[in-house]
Amino acid sequence: MSTPENPETVLPHIRPEIAVLPPYKQGTQASAEAFKLSSNENPFDPLPGVLDAILAQTAVNRYPDATAGRLRAALAERFGVHIDAVHIGAGSVSIISQLMLAVAAPGDEVVFAWRSFEAYPGLALVAGATPVQIPLTEDARHDLPAMAAAITERTRAVIVCSPNNPTGPVVTQAEFDAFLAQVPPTVLVILDEAYIEFVTQQDAVDGARMLAAGAPANLVVLRTFSKAYGLAGLRVGYAIGHPRVLDAARSTGIPLSVTAQAEAGALASLEAEGELLERVGDLARRRDALAAALREQGWRVPDAQGNFVWLGTGAETMAAAETFMADGLVVRPFDGEGIRISVGEHMSVEKVLRTARGIVGNLPEGHAARALP
Ligand SMILES: *Cc1c(COP(=O)(O)O)cnc(C)c1O
Repeated sequence: MSTPENPETVLPHIRPEIAVLPPYKQGTQASAEAFKLSSNENPFDPLPGVLDAILAQTAVNRYPDATAGRLRAALAERFGVHIDAVHIGAGSVSIISQLMLAVAAPGDEVVFAWRSFEAYPGLALVAGATPVQIPLTEDARHDLPAMAAAITERTRAVIVCSPNNPTGPVVTQAEFDAFLAQVPPTVLVILDEAYIEFVTQQDAVDGARMLAAGAPANLVVLRTFSKAYGLAGLRVGYAIGHPRVLDAARSTGIPLSVTAQAEAGALASLEAEGELLERVGDLARRRDALAAALREQGWRVPDAQGNFVWLGTGAETMAAAETFMADGLVVRPFDGEGIRISVGEHMSVEKVLRTARGIVGNLPEGHAARALP
């Protein structure tokens, strides 16, 4: 039998740009006692009514509604847009994939900040396009003027992530307005707002509000039920944008990917707005307290507006991540760059602080992760 290791095995032709991609690597699975702070998941149980709504969808022998019409209608009403200006996907990552396939082909370019969401480069490459990564500023924010300057006649899409995963800062509304004015109307602008519910900064960009007020047709806003709503396991996210642009995404997507259970869970979550806001408020306060305490320990923590904080541990990243792991804290290291820590259970925050104090104390003088004296 042929095995993966056997060099004589003849494999079918695989697109060379795909063959070199690393297989998807999930955040380390946490042991039962450890706190899993590596995937920006919500530590709370599902909102009231959500599990009942999911369990009520018993006709699993039937395909779901291909357009998730009830959820689209609810979101359209909430955001004051036409129902065709809403598109549901099996997670907003799948909508990014659909949009990439719809706009970008070999030879085309997709511009985004780096470091930003890990999925962006792979999704652009799978579409055949070339990722163009624009370094973040010194304070871990998008460099929007540099991103605008990187747009060429081959650019088909620009992705802006606010708040930025994994570093935390938002793009302000004024910054985004100025940026959008510089992007040609033929270039798709994807504004990824996966963490917008956690944002407390008053002047942050709000793409849904822009679209309700009548934004240019090249703007698509992405949101998800995975983070604030705590439905990461159900796989449901949405886009708001021009119906014709979303039609293109609907055309490249795999039909019937959003299950009836996911749609029902999302609808029930929308109805539990009061509890949602309470939990999101809790997590945002917990995040602010965590960031403040880390800064007090001597860490330089970028503005944290999602449900996570960023430590720019640089060359010390893997060693620092191991120290967290050894203390039962599963964090997300990006080798050579830094560590992202999700805001999790109340108890996890204290533990993070205890471990972080020891790590910062051992960083060399003048290390970039340390606050400037
Ligand atoms: C988590 C996340 C998403 C959404 O993921 P789904 O679970 O696929 O909805 C999208 N963008 C960013 C930046 C994220 O961190």
